Amino acid sequence: MKYIPKKIPEGINVTSRHPLLNFAYLLGTVVAVSIFIFVVLGFVAEWLVIRVSPETETQIGDMLVQPALDKEITDDKRIQYIEELLNSLLIPGETTRLPLQVHLINNDVINAAITVGGHVLVHTALLETVKSENELALVLGHELGHFQAHDPLKSLGRSLVFLTVSSILGVGMSQSGGLPKIIPLTSELTNLNYSRIQERAADIYGFNRVVKHYGHGGHSLDFFERLAKGESKLQKVSQYFLTHPLSQDRINDLNAEAAKQGWKMEEEVTPLPQWLHCSNMKPCEQAE
Ligand SMILES: [Zn+2]
Repeated sequence: MKYIPKKIPEGINVTSRHPLLNFAYLLGTVVAVSIFIFVVLGFVAEWLVIRVSPETETQIGDMLVQPALDKEITDDKRIQYIEELLNSLLIPGETTRLPLQVHLINNDVINAAITVGGHVLVHTALLETVKSENELALVLGHELGHFQAHDPLKSLGRSLVFLTVSSILGVGMSQSGGLPKIIPLTSELTNLNYSRIQERAADIYGFNRVVKHYGHGGHSLDFFERLAKGESKLQKVSQYFLTHPLSQDRINDLNAEAAKQGWKMEEEVTPLPQWLHCSNMKPCEQAE
């Protein structure tokens, strides 16, 4: 019998979709899967990193904080004052997993941050700008909130995922082919990227501790209010503060929280030590 091949119908292996559309579909799937893996890895990294022992966190923190300590001021009474104020914000029974170590940095950019290992970095410009202890306490309380929530560690974990993924993809590497440029950046204050949820939680934590400490929240929002008004004295405020929730938004949020909790907002102001803006708190000219 003679074999007569059947005629293959036209377009049997051709999809009805346009090839470009197919390509877009494929690309979209790859991107979506990559983002999904990236997000999952981020969560896994966060989960792992907050489980490191305090000893390991200390070692990592000591290493990462070094570049920020270039202009550290030591032997200055202001350090002790900030340390005491910071610790006084902890409620009875509350502890930090590591002792907090305040570093005073000679820098005219208004800034404060807490990093892995409990290193608290306070720029001299912040001390020259705050007008009451209440507002300084809120800034410090906010940073303490980040530490208690393991935010610096989580940020580091995410940076490491980003680093790993980007090195696999070959982006962000240094020209010499050595370590990616991103590594030293992880310790920079400006690179502590927190989500809005983390920022809000740190705000609420700090505000709560300030209210518990002073018995009211009055005057603690003054710094952010001046920031929101764009006062000239606050021109040199760091990107870090600027990338925090917009000042007016956070003021509204915190006022709403005070109303919800029934916290008093109009009470006496607690003054700062008179010479907080001066080296070693020795009388000096008023900073501009
Ligand atoms: Zn923050």
